[in-house]
Amino acid sequence: MKKNLGTLCVHGGWAPENGGPRAVPIYQSTTFKYDTSEQMGRLFDLEESGYFYTRLANPTNDSVAAKINSLEGGVGCVLTSSGQAASFYSVFNICQSGDHFISANNIYGGTFNLFFTTMRKLGIECTFVDQEASDEEIEKAFRPNTKCVFGETISNPGCTVFDIERFAAIAHRHGVPLIVDNTFATPINCRPIEWGCDIVIHSTTKYMDGHAVQVGGAVVDSGNFDWEAHADKFPGLCTPDESYHGLTYTKAFGRKAYITKIVSQLMRDFGSIPSPMNCFLLDLGLATLQLRMERHCSNALAVAQWLERNPKVAWLNYPSLPSDKYYPLAQKYLSGGSCGVIALGLKGTRDDAIRFMDNLDFIAIATHVADIRTCVLHPASHTHRQLTDEQLREGGIAPDLIRLSVGIEDVEDIIADLEQALAKM
Ligand SMILES: *Cc1c(COP(=O)(O)O)cnc(C)c1O
Repeated sequence: MKKNLGTLCVHGGWAPENGGPRAVPIYQSTTFKYDTSEQMGRLFDLEESGYFYTRLANPTNDSVAAKINSLEGGVGCVLTSSGQAASFYSVFNICQSGDHFISANNIYGGTFNLFFTTMRKLGIECTFVDQEASDEEIEKAFRPNTKCVFGETISNPGCTVFDIERFAAIAHRHGVPLIVDNTFATPINCRPIEWGCDIVIHSTTKYMDGHAVQVGGAVVDSGNFDWEAHADKFPGLCTPDESYHGLTYTKAFGRKAYITKIVSQLMRDFGSIPSPMNCFLLDLGLATLQLRMERHCSNALAVAQWLERNPKVAWLNYPSLPSDKYYPLAQKYLSGGSCGVIALGLKGTRDDAIRFMDNLDFIAIATHVADIRTCVLHPASHTHRQLTDEQLREGGIAPDLIRLSVGIEDVEDIIADLEQALAKM
Protein backbone atom coordinates (compact mmCIF):
# COMPACT_ATOMS: atom_id res chain seq x y z
CA MET A 1 0.00 0.00 0.00
CA LYS A 2 1.38 3.42 -0.96
CA LYS A 3 1.88 5.57 2.12
CA ASN A 4 2.25 9.31 2.58
CA LEU A 5 5.19 10.91 4.35
CA GLY A 6 3.62 11.28 7.80
CA THR A 7 2.65 7.61 7.79
CA LEU A 8 6.13 6.58 6.62
CA CYS A 9 7.63 8.61 9.50
CA VAL A 10 5.62 6.46 11.92
CA HIS A 11 5.61 3.06 10.20
CA GLY A 12 8.40 3.07 7.58
CA GLY A 13 11.16 0.46 7.77
CA TRP A 14 9.67 -1.80 10.42
CA ALA A 15 6.86 -4.29 9.89
CA PRO A 16 6.34 -6.33 13.06
CA GLU A 17 5.36 -9.95 12.63
CA ASN A 18 2.39 -11.46 14.44
CA GLY A 19 3.08 -11.13 18.16
CA GLY A 20 6.28 -9.16 17.43
CA PRO A 21 7.28 -5.87 19.06
CA ARG A 22 5.57 -2.78 17.61
CA ALA A 23 8.62 -0.58 18.30
CA VAL A 24 11.90 -1.30 16.50
CA PRO A 25 13.90 -3.60 18.81
CA ILE A 26 17.46 -2.62 19.74
CA TYR A 27 19.76 -5.42 18.53
CA GLN A 28 22.67 -4.39 20.72
CA SER A 29 24.83 -7.24 19.46
CA THR A 30 28.06 -7.21 17.46
CA THR A 31 27.60 -10.74 16.22
CA PHE A 32 25.00 -13.07 14.74
CA LYS A 33 25.11 -16.85 14.98
CA TYR A 34 25.02 -19.39 12.13
CA ASP A 35 24.91 -23.18 12.27
CA THR A 36 27.33 -24.01 9.46
CA SER A 37 30.52 -22.46 8.17
CA GLU A 38 29.22 -22.79 4.62
CA GLN A 39 26.31 -20.47 5.41
CA MET A 40 28.68 -17.93 6.91
CA GLY A 41 30.91 -18.17 3.82
CA ARG A 42 28.03 -17.35 1.48
CA LEU A 43 27.33 -14.18 3.48
CA PHE A 44 30.94 -13.05 3.15
CA ASP A 45 30.84 -13.66 -0.61
CA LEU A 46 27.76 -11.38 -0.76
CA GLU A 47 25.88 -14.31 -2.29
CA GLU A 48 23.28 -14.29 0.43
CA SER A 49 22.06 -11.47 2.60
CA GLY A 50 22.07 -11.87 6.35
CA TYR A 51 23.65 -10.45 9.44
CA PHE A 52 27.04 -11.49 10.70
CA TYR A 53 28.82 -8.46 12.12
CA THR A 54 27.32 -5.10 13.07
CA ARG A 55 30.01 -3.07 11.28
CA LEU A 56 28.49 -4.34 8.02
CA ALA A 57 24.83 -4.66 8.96
CA ASN A 58 22.56 -4.71 11.99
CA PRO A 59 18.76 -5.24 12.02
CA THR A 60 18.01 -2.10 14.09
CA ASN A 61 20.20 0.09 11.88
CA ASP A 62 18.71 -1.46 8.75
CA SER A 63 15.12 -0.75 9.81
CA VAL A 64 15.90 2.91 10.45
CA ALA A 65 17.86 3.18 7.19
CA ALA A 66 14.85 1.69 5.37
CA LYS A 67 12.60 4.35 6.92
CA ILE A 68 14.85 7.19 5.70
CA ASN A 69 15.13 5.49 2.32
CA SER A 70 11.35 5.34 1.99
CA LEU A 71 11.04 9.05 2.95
CA GLU A 72 13.59 10.12 0.32
CA GLY A 73 12.34 7.66 -2.32
CA GLY A 74 15.66 5.88 -2.90
CA VAL A 75 16.68 2.29 -3.66
CA GLY A 76 18.91 1.99 -0.59
CA CYS A 77 20.25 3.87 2.42
CA VAL A 78 23.24 3.48 4.70
CA LEU A 79 23.42 5.08 8.14
CA THR A 80 26.73 6.48 9.33
CA SER A 81 28.07 7.58 12.71
CA SER A 82 27.86 11.28 11.74
CA GLY A 83 26.85 13.60 8.95
CA GLN A 84 30.54 14.20 8.26
CA ALA A 85 31.04 10.49 7.60
CA ALA A 86 28.04 10.54 5.23
CA SER A 87 29.50 13.49 3.26
CA PHE A 88 32.89 11.79 3.07
CA TYR A 89 31.51 8.41 1.98
CA SER A 90 29.19 9.94 -0.61
CA VAL A 91 32.12 11.52 -2.45
CA PHE A 92 34.88 9.02 -1.69
CA ASN A 93 32.72 6.15 -2.98
CA ILE A 94 33.25 7.48 -6.53
CA CYS A 95 36.44 9.57 -6.22
CA GLN A 96 39.97 8.39 -5.76
CA SER A 97 43.38 10.01 -5.66
CA GLY A 98 43.83 12.10 -8.82
CA ASP A 99 40.13 12.86 -9.13
CA HIS A 100 38.28 16.14 -8.88
CA PHE A 101 34.76 17.23 -7.93
CA ILE A 102 32.72 20.42 -7.76
CA SER A 103 30.82 21.84 -4.79
CA ALA A 104 28.57 24.82 -4.31
CA ASN A 105 30.35 27.34 -2.07
CA ASN A 106 27.37 27.74 0.28
CA ILE A 107 27.84 24.64 2.40
CA TYR A 108 28.26 23.66 6.03
CA GLY A 109 31.66 24.68 7.48
CA GLY A 110 32.58 21.11 8.44
CA THR A 111 31.90 19.93 4.89
CA PHE A 112 33.97 22.85 3.55
CA ASN A 113 36.95 21.78 5.69
CA LEU A 114 36.55 18.16 4.62
CA PHE A 115 36.42 19.07 0.92
CA PHE A 116 38.97 21.88 0.94
CA THR A 117 41.64 20.46 3.23
CA THR A 118 41.28 16.80 4.13
CA MET A 119 40.13 15.44 0.76
CA ARG A 120 43.01 17.31 -0.85
CA LYS A 121 45.42 15.38 1.39
CA LEU A 122 43.95 12.23 -0.15
CA GLY A 123 44.70 13.61 -3.63
CA ILE A 124 41.09 14.58 -4.36
CA GLU A 125 40.58 18.20 -5.35
CA CYS A 126 37.38 20.20 -4.97
CA THR A 127 36.50 23.35 -6.90
CA PHE A 128 33.96 25.60 -5.19
CA VAL A 129 31.54 27.41 -7.46
CA ASP A 130 29.21 30.32 -6.77
CA GLN A 131 25.80 28.70 -6.87
CA GLU A 132 24.30 31.86 -8.38
CA ALA A 133 26.73 31.83 -11.34
CA SER A 134 25.44 31.12 -14.84
CA ASP A 135 25.47 27.56 -16.25
CA GLU A 136 28.32 28.63 -18.49
CA GLU A 137 30.44 29.86 -15.56
CA ILE A 138 29.77 26.71 -13.57
CA GLU A 139 30.57 24.44 -16.51
CA LYS A 140 34.04 25.99 -16.73
CA ALA A 141 34.88 24.20 -13.47
CA PHE A 142 34.51 20.74 -15.04
CA ARG A 143 37.63 18.78 -15.91
CA PRO A 144 38.08 15.36 -17.55
CA ASN A 145 38.62 13.87 -14.05
CA THR A 146 35.56 15.51 -12.42
CA LYS A 147 33.43 12.83 -10.74
CA CYS A 148 30.49 14.55 -9.02
CA VAL A 149 28.77 17.79 -8.05
CA PHE A 150 27.72 18.62 -4.47
CA GLY A 151 25.34 21.16 -2.88
CA GLU A 152 23.02 21.79 0.12
CA THR A 153 19.25 22.15 -0.36
CA ILE A 154 19.20 24.92 2.29
CA SER A 155 22.68 25.96 3.31
CA ASN A 156 23.88 25.90 6.90
CA PRO A 157 24.17 28.65 8.11
CA GLY A 158 23.46 31.05 5.21
CA CYS A 159 19.91 29.76 4.50
CA THR A 160 20.42 30.03 0.73
CA VAL A 161 18.46 27.66 -1.51
CA PHE A 162 20.22 25.39 -4.02
CA ASP A 163 18.71 25.10 -7.50
CA ILE A 164 18.68 21.29 -7.55
CA GLU A 165 17.10 20.81 -10.97
CA ARG A 166 19.55 23.19 -12.64
CA PHE A 167 22.60 21.60 -11.00
CA ALA A 168 21.35 18.09 -11.80
CA ALA A 169 21.08 19.05 -15.47
CA ILE A 170 24.59 20.55 -15.44
CA ALA A 171 26.08 17.48 -13.71
CA HIS A 172 24.31 15.08 -16.08
CA ARG A 173 25.51 16.99 -19.15
CA HIS A 174 29.02 16.14 -17.94
CA GLY A 175 28.24 12.50 -17.15
CA VAL A 176 28.48 12.78 -13.35
CA PRO A 177 25.96 12.50 -10.49
CA LEU A 178 24.61 15.27 -8.27
CA ILE A 179 24.90 14.76 -4.49
CA VAL A 180 22.65 16.90 -2.29
CA ASP A 181 22.88 17.43 1.46
CA ASN A 182 19.20 17.62 2.43
CA THR A 183 19.75 18.05 6.19
CA PHE A 184 17.89 21.35 6.74
CA ALA A 185 14.94 20.74 4.43
CA THR A 186 14.42 17.08 5.42
CA PRO A 187 12.38 14.86 3.06
CA ILE A 188 9.24 16.39 4.59
CA ASN A 189 9.93 19.69 2.83
CA CYS A 190 12.03 18.60 -0.16
CA ARG A 191 12.77 15.30 -1.88
CA PRO A 192 15.82 16.08 -4.05
CA ILE A 193 15.54 12.80 -6.00
CA GLU A 194 12.29 14.07 -7.51
CA TRP A 195 14.27 17.01 -8.95
CA GLY A 196 16.96 14.86 -10.58
CA CYS A 197 19.44 14.54 -7.70
CA ASP A 198 21.23 11.16 -7.69
CA ILE A 199 22.51 10.80 -4.13
CA VAL A 200 21.01 12.41 -1.00
CA ILE A 201 22.91 12.74 2.25
CA HIS A 202 21.89 13.83 5.74
CA SER A 203 23.24 14.80 9.06
CA THR A 204 20.56 12.94 11.04
CA THR A 205 21.90 14.81 14.07
CA LYS A 206 19.63 17.72 13.12
CA TYR A 207 15.86 17.63 12.42
CA MET A 208 15.68 13.89 11.78
CA ASP A 209 16.66 13.14 15.36
CA GLY A 210 15.39 16.54 16.41
CA HIS A 211 15.99 16.13 20.15
CA ALA A 212 19.78 16.56 20.15
CA VAL A 213 20.44 13.09 21.52
CA GLN A 214 22.48 11.35 18.82
CA VAL A 215 25.05 12.24 16.17
CA GLY A 216 24.47 10.42 12.89
CA GLY A 217 24.33 10.56 9.13
CA ALA A 218 22.72 8.87 6.15
CA VAL A 219 23.45 8.32 2.47
CA VAL A 220 20.50 7.54 0.18
CA ASP A 221 20.98 6.24 -3.37
CA SER A 222 18.28 7.13 -5.94
CA GLY A 223 19.45 4.22 -8.11
CA ASN A 224 18.92 6.51 -11.10
CA PHE A 225 22.47 7.31 -12.16
CA ASP A 226 23.67 5.13 -15.04
CA TRP A 227 27.25 4.34 -13.95
CA GLU A 228 27.80 1.90 -16.84
CA ALA A 229 27.05 4.64 -19.37
CA HIS A 230 30.11 6.47 -17.96
CA ALA A 231 32.12 3.38 -17.01
CA ASP A 232 35.47 5.03 -17.76
CA LYS A 233 34.80 7.62 -15.04
CA PHE A 234 33.70 5.14 -12.37
CA PRO A 235 36.09 2.16 -12.39
CA GLY A 236 35.35 1.47 -8.73
CA LEU A 237 31.76 0.60 -9.62
CA CYS A 238 32.17 -0.77 -13.14
CA THR A 239 35.31 -2.94 -12.92
CA PRO A 240 36.00 -5.94 -10.66
CA ASP A 241 36.70 -5.26 -6.96
CA GLU A 242 39.69 -7.46 -6.13
CA SER A 243 38.92 -7.14 -2.43
CA TYR A 244 35.58 -8.84 -3.16
CA HIS A 245 36.68 -11.84 -5.27
CA GLY A 246 36.52 -9.83 -8.49
CA LEU A 247 32.87 -8.85 -8.15
CA THR A 248 31.70 -5.87 -10.24
CA TYR A 249 29.15 -3.76 -8.34
CA THR A 250 27.13 -2.58 -11.34
CA LYS A 251 26.85 -6.15 -12.70
CA ALA A 252 26.08 -7.81 -9.36
CA PHE A 253 23.78 -5.15 -7.86
CA GLY A 254 22.37 -3.10 -10.75
CA ARG A 255 20.63 0.04 -9.46
CA LYS A 256 21.97 -0.64 -5.95
CA ALA A 257 25.63 -0.67 -7.06
CA TYR A 258 26.62 2.62 -5.42
CA ILE A 259 24.97 2.00 -2.07
CA THR A 260 26.19 -1.61 -1.89
CA LYS A 261 29.76 -0.46 -2.50
CA ILE A 262 29.49 2.00 0.41
CA VAL A 263 28.54 -0.81 2.79
CA SER A 264 30.73 -3.59 1.52
CA GLN A 265 33.84 -1.50 0.89
CA LEU A 266 33.84 1.83 2.75
CA MET A 267 32.00 0.66 5.86
CA ARG A 268 34.07 -2.52 5.91
CA ASP A 269 37.31 -0.51 5.74
CA PHE A 270 36.51 2.75 7.59
CA GLY A 271 33.80 1.47 9.91
CA SER A 272 31.87 4.66 10.73
CA ILE A 273 28.75 2.86 11.93
CA PRO A 274 26.15 4.28 14.28
CA SER A 275 25.35 2.20 17.36
CA PRO A 276 22.02 0.31 17.33
CA MET A 277 21.01 2.33 20.41
CA ASN A 278 21.56 5.60 18.51
CA CYS A 279 19.58 4.26 15.55
CA PHE A 280 16.72 3.51 17.93
CA LEU A 281 16.85 7.09 19.25
CA LEU A 282 16.93 8.38 15.67
CA ASP A 283 13.87 6.28 14.89
CA LEU A 284 11.96 7.90 17.77
CA GLY A 285 12.81 11.29 16.31
CA LEU A 286 11.80 10.28 12.79
CA ALA A 287 8.38 9.19 14.02
CA THR A 288 7.46 12.85 14.70
CA LEU A 289 9.52 14.46 11.93
CA GLN A 290 6.53 15.68 9.92
CA LEU A 291 4.76 17.08 12.99
CA ARG A 292 7.86 18.86 14.21
CA MET A 293 8.78 20.30 10.81
CA GLU A 294 5.35 21.91 10.51
CA ARG A 295 5.82 23.58 13.87
CA HIS A 296 9.46 24.58 13.23
CA CYS A 297 8.39 26.18 9.95
CA SER A 298 5.32 28.03 11.26
CA ASN A 299 7.26 29.28 14.31
CA ALA A 300 10.24 30.37 12.21
CA LEU A 301 8.04 32.20 9.71
CA ALA A 302 6.34 34.13 12.52
CA VAL A 303 9.72 34.94 14.11
CA ALA A 304 11.17 36.00 10.72
CA GLN A 305 8.21 38.30 10.08
CA TRP A 306 8.64 39.83 13.53
CA LEU A 307 12.42 40.27 13.11
CA GLU A 308 11.92 41.83 9.67
CA ARG A 309 9.95 44.65 11.30
CA ASN A 310 12.42 45.14 14.15
CA PRO A 311 14.60 48.26 13.74
CA LYS A 312 17.58 46.58 15.46
CA VAL A 313 17.81 43.93 12.74
CA ALA A 314 20.18 44.90 9.90
CA TRP A 315 19.40 42.02 7.58
CA LEU A 316 17.69 38.64 7.56
CA ASN A 317 17.74 35.48 5.43
CA TYR A 318 14.75 33.18 5.62
CA PRO A 319 13.75 31.65 2.30
CA SER A 320 10.02 31.33 3.11
CA LEU A 321 9.76 35.10 3.58
CA PRO A 322 8.31 36.77 0.44
CA SER A 323 10.95 39.53 0.63
CA ASP A 324 13.81 36.98 0.65
CA LYS A 325 16.17 36.70 -2.30
CA TYR A 326 15.60 32.95 -2.37
CA TYR A 327 11.80 33.09 -2.11
CA PRO A 328 11.28 32.09 -5.78
CA LEU A 329 13.52 29.01 -5.38
CA ALA A 330 11.86 28.23 -2.05
CA GLN A 331 8.45 28.39 -3.75
CA LYS A 332 9.69 25.84 -6.26
CA TYR A 333 11.53 23.38 -3.99
CA LEU A 334 10.14 24.12 -0.51
CA SER A 335 6.55 25.11 -1.09
CA GLY A 336 5.33 23.44 2.10
CA GLY A 337 7.90 25.23 4.27
CA SER A 338 11.68 25.50 4.44
CA CYS A 339 13.10 24.92 7.92
CA GLY A 340 13.39 26.49 11.37
CA VAL A 341 16.70 28.23 10.82
CA ILE A 342 17.00 31.97 10.26
CA ALA A 343 20.23 33.81 9.50
CA LEU A 344 20.38 37.45 10.63
CA GLY A 345 22.67 40.35 11.32
CA LEU A 346 22.08 43.02 13.96
CA LYS A 347 22.78 46.71 13.74
CA GLY A 348 25.60 47.76 16.01
CA THR A 349 28.96 46.32 16.92
CA ARG A 350 30.09 42.78 17.44
CA ASP A 351 29.88 43.40 21.20
CA ASP A 352 26.20 44.34 20.79
CA ALA A 353 25.56 41.02 19.10
CA ILE A 354 27.34 39.19 21.90
CA ARG A 355 25.36 41.14 24.53
CA PHE A 356 22.15 40.16 22.75
CA MET A 357 23.04 36.47 22.81
CA ASP A 358 24.26 36.54 26.41
CA ASN A 359 21.00 38.16 27.54
CA LEU A 360 18.70 35.52 26.11
CA ASP A 361 16.71 33.62 28.69
CA PHE A 362 15.64 30.11 27.60
CA ILE A 363 17.06 30.52 24.10
CA ALA A 364 20.55 29.11 24.52
CA ILE A 365 23.89 29.65 22.83
CA ALA A 366 24.55 26.15 21.51
CA THR A 367 26.82 24.50 18.96
CA HIS A 368 23.78 22.89 17.55
CA VAL A 369 20.98 23.65 15.21
CA ALA A 370 17.70 22.14 14.11
CA ASP A 371 16.38 20.64 17.29
CA ILE A 372 13.27 21.21 19.39
CA ARG A 373 14.91 23.85 21.62
CA THR A 374 15.49 27.32 20.20
CA CYS A 375 19.17 28.21 20.09
CA VAL A 376 21.57 30.79 18.64
CA LEU A 377 25.12 30.68 17.39
CA HIS A 378 27.56 33.20 15.99
CA PRO A 379 29.48 31.12 13.40
CA ALA A 380 32.38 33.57 13.05
CA SER A 381 33.26 33.20 16.73
CA HIS A 382 32.00 29.62 17.27
CA THR A 383 31.68 26.88 14.61
CA HIS A 384 33.57 28.62 11.81
CA ARG A 385 36.26 30.36 13.83
CA GLN A 386 39.04 28.62 11.86
CA LEU A 387 37.90 30.36 8.66
CA THR A 388 39.10 33.83 7.67
CA ASP A 389 36.57 36.65 7.08
CA GLU A 390 37.19 36.22 3.36
CA GLN A 391 36.58 32.46 3.47
CA LEU A 392 33.43 33.19 5.50
CA ARG A 393 32.16 35.59 2.84
CA GLU A 394 33.06 33.15 0.05
CA GLY A 395 30.98 30.59 1.86
CA GLY A 396 28.05 32.98 1.99
CA ILE A 397 28.51 33.71 5.71
CA ALA A 398 28.66 37.32 6.78
CA PRO A 399 31.03 37.85 9.73
CA ASP A 400 28.11 39.37 11.69
CA LEU A 401 25.76 36.43 10.91
CA ILE A 402 23.79 35.06 13.84
CA ARG A 403 22.18 31.69 13.24
CA LEU A 404 18.86 31.45 15.03
CA SER A 405 17.44 27.94 15.13
CA VAL A 406 13.78 28.24 16.00
CA GLY A 407 12.44 25.37 18.09
CA ILE A 408 8.94 24.10 18.78
CA GLU A 409 8.21 26.13 21.94
CA ASP A 410 5.26 28.56 21.97
CA VAL A 411 6.12 31.19 19.44
CA GLU A 412 4.98 34.11 21.69
CA ASP A 413 7.62 33.01 24.22
CA ILE A 414 10.35 32.80 21.59
CA ILE A 415 9.52 36.31 20.37
CA ALA A 416 9.31 37.65 23.95
CA ASP A 417 12.78 36.28 24.73
CA LEU A 418 14.25 37.82 21.56
CA GLU A 419 12.52 41.11 22.33
CA GLN A 420 13.86 41.47 25.88
CA ALA A 421 17.42 40.54 24.78
CA LEU A 422 17.35 42.99 21.85
CA ALA A 423 16.16 45.69 24.24
CA LYS A 424 19.36 45.22 26.29
CA MET A 425 21.65 45.76 23.31
C1 LIG B 1 25.63 19.37 10.94
C2 LIG B 1 25.72 19.25 9.48
C3 LIG B 1 26.61 18.36 8.86
C4 LIG B 1 27.57 17.51 9.65
O1 LIG B 1 26.88 16.58 10.39
P1 LIG B 1 27.41 15.95 11.80
O2 LIG B 1 26.30 15.02 12.12
O3 LIG B 1 27.57 17.07 12.76
O4 LIG B 1 28.68 15.25 11.50
C5 LIG B 1 26.58 18.27 7.49
N1 LIG B 1 25.76 19.03 6.75
C6 LIG B 1 24.90 19.91 7.32
C7 LIG B 1 24.01 20.72 6.45
C8 LIG B 1 24.85 20.05 8.69
O5 LIG B 1 24.00 20.93 9.24
